[in-house]
Amino acid sequence: MAKVDLTLGKKLKKYGAVDFNACYNCGTCTAVCALSTGTDSFPREMVRLSVTGQSEDIKASLKPWLCYYCGECTTYCPQEAKPGELMMSLRRYLIARYDWTGLSSIFYQNLTAYLVAFFLVIAAIAGVFLIGEFSHENLMHYGHYFEMIAVGSVFLVILLPNLIRMWYFTLLSQNVNAHIKHYWIALKNLLVHMFTQKRTLQCNDEKDNKIWWFEHFILVIGYLSLLFTTVFLNWFSTQSIIVIAMGYVFSAIIFVVTFDFILRRIKKRSAKTTFSHFTDWFFVIWLFLMGLSAFTVRLLIDLNMLESYFWVYFIHIIVLAQWALIIVPFGKWMHFLYRSFAMYFDKIIKLTTLS
Ligand code: SF4
Ligand code: SF4
Repeated sequence: MAKVDLTLGKKLKKYGAVDFNACYNCGTCTAVCALSTGTDSFPREMVRLSVTGQSEDIKASLKPWLCYYCGECTTYCPQEAKPGELMMSLRRYLIARYDWTGLSSIFYQNLTAYLVAFFLVIAAIAGVFLIGEFSHENLMHYGHYFEMIAVGSVFLVILLPNLIRMWYFTLLSQNVNAHIKHYWIALKNLLVHMFTQKRTLQCNDEKDNKIWWFEHFILVIGYLSLLFTTVFLNWFSTQSIIVIAMGYVFSAIIFVVTFDFILRRIKKRSAKTTFSHFTDWFFVIWLFLMGLSAFTVRLLIDLNMLESYFWVYFIHIIVLAQWALIIVPFGKWMHFLYRSFAMYFDKIIKLTTLS
């Protein structure tokens, strides 16, 4: 008999779900969802699993990742059970279930713990700046080392093991005996969805949806390019005009686009941005601060003014460390990774079923 988690409803509310218990199982949400298909039918099934506490079935499902939060299901639900918000909260819940450290679960459910983690990062960096007797040049040198070490270790210690856990929960434990060639053939799906998120365009034809997709697309490209420019091309120390210009463009893309994302959330312009979990706010605001502070630091370097305004670099490194050590491994950034792998795993399952 399937294990029932009687506390699941309460937990999901902490992850952002609202009113899903009002569902009377009519199926309107599934009928109006542009992304739901005969083989991948949602969100009604996920609402049922949530109402009945089937946490293990939810853990094994890729369906929450196949939803791109268009919001039609919520608009047309006769019970106002907000199935779109439930799907979003299930993605947060799954991030916590995949995470071997357990920190995602704590952070998603507890704002105080989240804030404490942010303050600990500030305290650690302030300690290095104030107690250590380093020159500004040395501090920037170590800042660059920190970036490289943080990227490598977060990937190896958190992201990779969590991806393996996701693979285990959704494929291996479900007895999907995929042939190696299916992993190879499906690889295209991983890359296409990771960089384009093109399924968003299937949501609807509205102009605002297309603008949102385009902004999201250039944000992903800008973010990955800035990561490459700062970590591998050492943007703050390079003399190359091309690399300097690239850094300015990529960091500007980040703060301009995220500023619009912040406005969207404030104005609640679409279903996607009507309900915001506190981690959604941290995500957009920190991404904005990261782009803006990186841009400003490089500008101060080029104007020969960084010595006088070194506190800007101090702020930049704090924002960067909070982003790299808290938001990326334990929060919304993981959507980028898990959703792409969900599309990949889903394709593998389909290829295996057909063979
Ligand atoms: S439309 Fe609303 S009431 Fe009907 S199945 Fe979906 S969530 Fe439940
Ligand atoms: S939010 Fe959009 S994609 Fe997700 S289940 Fe609802 S209608 Fe479908």
